[in-house]
Amino acid sequence: MSTPFEFCPHCMNPMLEIQEGGYPRYRCDQCGFVQYLNPASAAGVLVVDGGRVLLVKRKYDPYRGLWVIPSGFIEYSEDIRGTAVREVEEETGLTVRLEGLHAVESCFDDPRGNAVLVVFDGHVTGGEMRAGDDAEDVDFFPLDRLPEIAFEAHRKILGALSNS
Ligand SMILES: [Zn+2]
Repeated sequence: MSTPFEFCPHCMNPMLEIQEGGYPRYRCDQCGFVQYLNPASAAGVLVVDGGRVLLVKRKYDPYRGLWVIPSGFIEYSEDIRGTAVREVEEETGLTVRLEGLHAVESCFDDPRGNAVLVVFDGHVTGGEMRAGDDAEDVDFFPLDRLPEIAFEAHRKILGALSNS
């Protein structure tokens, strides 16, 4: 949730903006409900094979047509590792096994709202590569010849990889 409620979702009273520890909170003074604005959480998988990295081309806005590390938002009741594996399979057709944590980054340039992105290392265990779900295309790219990448967090992670 990235935008404050104008009215309390419980009693429809207009919400008031208050400050708490330097951050805005949105409070209903009728029933006491407080809306906290927290970043959404997302998970993805970095698959590097023979010096090439698996990327997907975004089919929808924001940043339609640019490339990203396969990733997506975590469902409320979903384990974060399950999200990572599911997103790769949905977007690329490939099944992956996770190896470990690669990076955690804050994201401030998604117009849908701020997020925290957790990226695991992984390797392909099966499946057949095809673009699916919200991906327009999928491919492996040499680390020194990457296409145009969406999102600062993804550029940072891939940039560090190219320079290592
Ligand atoms: Zn209320």
